[in-house]
Amino acid sequence: MVTESQIKIPQDVHSLIEILNVHGFEAYTVGGCVRDSLLGRVPEDWDIATNAKPEAVKGLFDKTVDTGIRHGTVTVLFKDASYEITTYRIDGEYTDSRHPQWVLYTDSLESDLSRRDFTINAMAYHPSLGLVDPFHGRLALDKQMIAAVGNPGSRFQEDALRMLRAVRFSAQLGFDIETKTFQAIRNNSEGIRQISCERVRDELTKLLLSPNPMKWTLLRDAGILHHIMPEFDACYETPQNHPYHVHDVAFHTLYAVSQVEKDRILCWAMLLHDIGKPTVRTTDRHQIDHFYNHQAHSVMLARNILKRLRFDAKSMEKICRLIKHHDLRIKPELRSVKKAVIYAGDDIFLDLLKIMEADMKAQNPRFLHERLDSLMQIRKLYAQIKHEGHCLSIKDLALNGDDLLRLGVKPGKAVGKMLDELLKAVLENPELNNSAALSALVHKQNWSKA
Ligand code: ATP
Ligand code: MG
Repeated sequence: MVTESQIKIPQDVHSLIEILNVHGFEAYTVGGCVRDSLLGRVPEDWDIATNAKPEAVKGLFDKTVDTGIRHGTVTVLFKDASYEITTYRIDGEYTDSRHPQWVLYTDSLESDLSRRDFTINAMAYHPSLGLVDPFHGRLALDKQMIAAVGNPGSRFQEDALRMLRAVRFSAQLGFDIETKTFQAIRNNSEGIRQISCERVRDELTKLLLSPNPMKWTLLRDAGILHHIMPEFDACYETPQNHPYHVHDVAFHTLYAVSQVEKDRILCWAMLLHDIGKPTVRTTDRHQIDHFYNHQAHSVMLARNILKRLRFDAKSMEKICRLIKHHDLRIKPELRSVKKAVIYAGDDIFLDLLKIMEADMKAQNPRFLHERLDSLMQIRKLYAQIKHEGHCLSIKDLALNGDDLLRLGVKPGKAVGKMLDELLKAVLENPELNNSAALSALVHKQNWSKA
C-alpha cells in the first residue's frame, strides 16, 4: 500500500485544483482516483469535488460541457483532456432505488463523502491538505474490505445498483465484502429488478473482465443472480459426472472465464457456453451424465439473456456463434482445420481456439496436456492456411454472385446454393479457385439440374 505522501497527482489536476483554490473555493480529488492511488494503481480518471457551484466552475474555465449539470457535474476540457468537477452535494430522497428525486448542494465535503457508496470510495485528497477520510476508507483498504458508508440496508434501498457495484469492486480489487454490508445485500437483493438492464450488463461485464471473475458466485450467495440471470443459477445445481469433467457446470464455467483472455466478447461467450446444460442433462445407467446438443440450447438461452441485457446485434451474433461451435471437433490436420474455419467463420476462428483452450483448462486436467498439444498444432495449421492464402469463405472465391447470374444461374436462392457448392469444391481441391475452372463447374451443375 502506498502512503498518503506518495500520491502523485498529475500536473493538470494540480493546476485545476489551484485555479479553484485561488478563487476562494475548496477543491479535492475524490472517489476512485484516491482509492486507486492509495492502492498504488494508476487511476483511469481524476474526479474533482468542490464547494464552487456549477455556474462558478463554468466561469473559471474556457471550455466546459454541461454533461451532468443536473447533478452538479461540469466537464472541464483542459489541455487536451477532460475532467469532471462536481459540486459538493447530498442526494435527496430515492423513490425508485435508482435516482435521487433531487440533489442539494452543500458546503461540507464530509456531507458529500457521506452520500458515496463504499468507505473505500469516500475519501478525498488535496496535495497540501492531505487525506480527508471521515469513514475510515484507508483502514478498509488495509483490511481489504468493502463496507457501505452509513447504514448498508438504507444505502441499498436508495440505490440498488450499489449491490452489484459491491460485488464488482470485490472482484476488481480481490476484497471481501464486510459482513453487515453483505447481509444487507441479501436482504435487499430483489431491488436489483428496478435497475436498468444496461447498467446491470455494464457492471457484470466489469466483473467478468476483472482479475477475479469467480467472485461471480457472490451474486448467487447474495440472492441477486436469481433475479438477473436465473438460467445461470441452475448451473450451480448441475453436476457433471463424466470422465472429462471434475466440476459442476457453474464452477467449470467460471473457472473457464478466469482462464480466457480479458476481452468482453470472449468473457461473455465463456460465461454462457454451457448455460444450456442444466436443461439437457441426462444420466445413464452407469451414472454418467450426458449433455446432448447442449450447444444449441446454450445458444438459445444466451440469445434470450443477451437480448434482455440489451447487447448490440453484432456482439450478440459473435458471442452466439462462439457458443455454437465451442465443442467443434477439429483434428490437427489441414483439411479438418480448413473445414472448421469455413464452418465456424474465419472472422472468429482464433477467438474460438481461445475459448476452446480456456474450456479445456477448466476440465479434467488428466487430458489437458494432450489436448493443448493438439490445439497448438491446429494454430500452426491455421497460420499456414492464412499464409498460403487458401480460399476460406465465399468472398475468397474467384467468382461472385453477379458472375453466376451472367453464367445463367437463376436469381434468388440458387445463387447462394451454387456459391456454397463451389466453396465445397474448392475446399477439396484448391486449384479449382480460378474463374475458368469454376465457370466449368457452374455449367456442369446447371446442366445436371436442367
Ligand atoms: P471505476 O471508475 O474504476 O469504475 P469509481 O470508484 O471511480 O470506479 P465511478 O462509477 O466512476 O466509480 O464513480 C466515482 C465515485 O462516485 C465513486 O468512487 C463513488 O464515490 C461515487 N459513486 C459512484 N456511483 C455511486 C453510487 N451508485 N452510489 C453512491 N456513490 C457512487
Ligand atoms: Mg471512475
